[in-house]
Amino acid sequence: MKQPFASAIPIIEEIEKAGFTAYFVGGAVRDHLLKKPIHDIDIATSATPVEVKAIFKSTVDIGIEHGTVMVLYNNETYEVTTFRTESEYEDFRRPKDVAFVRNLRDDLQRRDFTMNSLAMDKHGNIIDYFDGKTDLANKRIVTVGSAHDRFAEDALRMMRAVRFVSTLGFQLEKLTLSSVEANRHLLEKIAVERITAEFEKLLLGEARTKAIHLMVQTKIYEHLPMLRPHRDGLLLLSTFSCGDLDINEMWSLLLISCQIPHQDTEQFLRKWKLPVKRIKTVQNIIKSVSERQKKQHWSSMDLYNFGLSIAESGEKVFSILSEKSADVKSVRDAYDKLPIKSREELQIGGRDVIEWSGKPPGPWVKEAIANIENSVVEKRLANKKEAIKEWLKQWKMI
Ligand code: ATP
Ligand code: MG
Repeated sequence: MKQPFASAIPIIEEIEKAGFTAYFVGGAVRDHLLKKPIHDIDIATSATPVEVKAIFKSTVDIGIEHGTVMVLYNNETYEVTTFRTESEYEDFRRPKDVAFVRNLRDDLQRRDFTMNSLAMDKHGNIIDYFDGKTDLANKRIVTVGSAHDRFAEDALRMMRAVRFVSTLGFQLEKLTLSSVEANRHLLEKIAVERITAEFEKLLLGEARTKAIHLMVQTKIYEHLPMLRPHRDGLLLLSTFSCGDLDINEMWSLLLISCQIPHQDTEQFLRKWKLPVKRIKTVQNIIKSVSERQKKQHWSSMDLYNFGLSIAESGEKVFSILSEKSADVKSVRDAYDKLPIKSREELQIGGRDVIEWSGKPPGPWVKEAIANIENSVVEKRLANKKEAIKEWLKQWKMI
């Protein structure tokens, strides 16, 4: 069997030796059949978490109440989850209780879509109780069982459906689609973090244009944080081909497409529960794009103030908005040529300025330093102590 499954076979064998069954499940099996790159391998087993922990030397409890134990094996980590059913759901959200079961079929039945309900044994044989292989071949996203019931049980599945449209380029099967339309309001009951995780995958998917159109067509965007008034912004976003944008750049493009005023961007992204640091990054990218739009090239001061990473992102987003090809290399070259990259690199400090002037310290010092910094960055002044002193005299600042 091919990697990365081959390396995980000993895990299945160890579990079997202890008298239980174990299979590869979830996205890895789906992506293997689609011949796509595989990120993480999930294993499902009839052994309970306690039994799994007794089999392996090195394990970490990462979600034991849901039956998941992380197994560390040959420097790799694998999530091993006990077969389970999720019968009772509370408020259309997470299951109230998970019941561990000993049979694979019951576990596969609680999974969201037929393509995600496939299992594979250690020999590479596929176990397909719900016609997942046919749906994969037809590029169809179909719920396991009644779409209406499955979406009412866990509304996040609707969001997952559209994100799989984006990442796989598949279509929603007819009943699955009409059930999204009928149940979309239930998305408002879902924890935002879970929605955001799926939405970010959607933003990065290759078929995002298709997925965004589907969000508009089904009107699910009306039930996502802050998006209700932004049908046109979403449609505009869907027209851009933004293949190599990273997630913060995608958020920037989304906010620009929706014409969110700068003072509202923080609140918008807070509603999506983005971490503060990422909010700042997105805000800076947007600012850098608007500066870039005012000029033919990046000014030295903009490169200096924004820093290389933001300027590179800004260039990428700017180029998409202006339908030009991004010239990230020129941005990097221009940045490398800046005489200084930060204030700390100035050959003088506030103390020198005060000493030279003989004047008491005050706000004027900060202003003088800012002027020096500006002139050095723009190469109107050499970053040398003597030159700076002369320059200050010339401008009567000391
Ligand atoms: P990716 O490759 O993007 O990780 P994935 O299908 O592996 O896609 P995960 O979120 O990692 O998605 O979930 C692993 C598996 O767990 C899924 O393939 C599916 O079988 C099941 N699953 C995940 N979320 C749900 C859900 N909300 N309802 C039912 N089954 C789910
Ligand atoms: Mg996965």
